[in-house]
Amino acid sequence: MEGGPGNYYLATAHPFERQPPLSGEVRCDVVVVGGGFTGTAAALAAAEAGASVVLLEAETIGFGASGRNGGQLIPGLRWSASHLKREFGLERARAVHDVALQAVERVKARVAKHGIACDLKPGHLEAAWKPAHFAEIRREADTLVRDFGRTGLEVVERADMARHVGTDAYHGGLFDAEGGHFHPLNYVLGLAAAAQRVGVVLHEGSRARRITQNGAVRVETAGGTVVAEQAILATDAWTGDLKPRLGRFTVPLMNYNVATAPLGDLAQTILPSDAAVADSRFVLNYFRLSADKRLIFGGGERYRTTPPRDIGGFVRPYMEGLFPDLSGVAIDHGWGGVVSVTANRLPHLGRDGAILFAHGFSGHGALLTTLAGELCAEQLHRSSRGFDLLAGLPHRPFPGGRLLARPLATLGLLYYAMKDRL
Ligand SMILES: Cc1cc2nc3c(=O)[nH]c(=O)nc-3n(C[C@H](O)[C@H](O)[C@H](O)COP(=O)(O)OP(=O)(O)OC[C@H]3O[C@@H](n4cnc5c(N)ncnc54)[C@H](O)[C@@H]3O)c2cc1C
Repeated sequence: MEGGPGNYYLATAHPFERQPPLSGEVRCDVVVVGGGFTGTAAALAAAEAGASVVLLEAETIGFGASGRNGGQLIPGLRWSASHLKREFGLERARAVHDVALQAVERVKARVAKHGIACDLKPGHLEAAWKPAHFAEIRREADTLVRDFGRTGLEVVERADMARHVGTDAYHGGLFDAEGGHFHPLNYVLGLAAAAQRVGVVLHEGSRARRITQNGAVRVETAGGTVVAEQAILATDAWTGDLKPRLGRFTVPLMNYNVATAPLGDLAQTILPSDAAVADSRFVLNYFRLSADKRLIFGGGERYRTTPPRDIGGFVRPYMEGLFPDLSGVAIDHGWGGVVSVTANRLPHLGRDGAILFAHGFSGHGALLTTLAGELCAEQLHRSSRGFDLLAGLPHRPFPGGRLLARPLATLGLLYYAMKDRL
C-alpha cells in the first residue's frame, strides 16, 4: 500500500503547543467556533479590533480542510467573470469580483505582517483539458481584462505550456501571477499563533455541541460553556451538526492528495516555473511542488465517503497519466479531506441573529476563507460592504433534505464527470 504515513503537512508542520480544552463557564465578546482558515482569520481580526475572543476547535487547529488541501491559491470565485456578468450585470459583478480578489492581498498581508513561514510562492496556471476549454479560457481572460480591470494574467498558447508544465496533455492555459501556492497547515498555524499574540484564547479538543441565542450566544462543549455577545460559525463541512438548517446548503465531498518522494532534478521538468496548476476538467487534477520538491497531486473522483484503502494507488494513475516520467516514483504520503460544496459553488455567508457564518467554499477556500473570516469580524462591529456583497450571493439549499441531498448531488457530479470523458 502506498502513501501510508498520511498527511504530508502534519509531517512538516511547525511546532504548535497543544491548547487546553474549554473548562467551566467563560464570558467574552466574541466566540468563534472552528479553527481552520476562516475561524482563525476571524478571531485574529476581531481581537485586533479590540474584542475579547475565545476560539473553540473540536480537534486541533487546522484539523479540517485547512490543514489538508492542495495549497492552491486561486484568485476569484468559482464563477467565471462572464457568468458573474450575466447573472448580476456588470456593476454588481465587478463589485463582487473586486471583493473576492481582495483575498489575495489579505493573505499576503497576513503572511508578511506575522512573518508566517508557509512557503508562499507566486503563480497559478489553469490548464485547458480540451481545445474548447482553451477557447473558453481566452474569452474569460478578455472579459477579465476588459471589463474587470484584471492585471497579471497571461494566456499561454499550447506551444508555450512547456514553460510551466512538463506534459503535452493540455491545449493551452491561463497563467495568473496573482495566484500561487502555500503550505496550508503552516499558514493556519501561523494565523492561530498571531491570534494568540493579540489575546485570543484558543481551546482545542473542544467540540461545540450546542449553540443557542437569547440575547447572548451560548456555546456548550463537553467541558464548559462560552457566553458571548456574538459568535462566528466557521465549521465549514460540519456546520449542519450545529445548525441543520444551514447544513442543507452544502454537501460534503471527499478529495484525496498525495505527496511523492522529493523529485530532485525531475521537479524542474515537471513544473519549470514552480507555479501551481489546476486543470479544467470537472473532476480536476491539481498539483504543485512543495518546498522540498515533492509533487503534491490531487486528482480522481470518488463519490463514497469512505476513503480508498490505498490512497496512493488511487491517485497514482491520474498523476502518471499526465507525467509518465513519474512512473514508479515513490508516494510517501496520501491523505484526504472533506470539501464542503454549495449548489452553485459560491461561498455561503450570512447572519442568523447574533451568529455570523461562512461555509461552503467549494474547493476555492484557500484564499477566500481569510477574506470571509476577516469580513465576518468587520461585520461584528460595523456594516461591512464586502460582507454584504458576499452574503447577497444567491443560494438555495440542496434538494432532497438531509437524506437525499447527498445522493442527488452525487448523481449531478457523475453526470459532469461523464461529460469530461466523452
Ligand atoms: C483535499 C482537499 C483539497 C483542497 N484543495 C484546495 C486548494 O488547492 N485550493 C483551495 O482554494 N481550496 C482547496 N480546498 C478547500 C479548502 O481547503 C477549504 O475551502 C478551506 O480550508 C475551508 O476552511 P474553513 O476554515 O472554512 O474550514 P475547515 O478548515 O474545515 O475548518 C473547520 C474547523 O471546524 C472544526 N469544527 C467542526 N465542527 C466543530 C464544532 N462543533 N465545534 C468546534 N469545532 C468544530 C473542524 O475540526 C475544523 O478544524 C481543498 C479541500 C480539501 C479537503
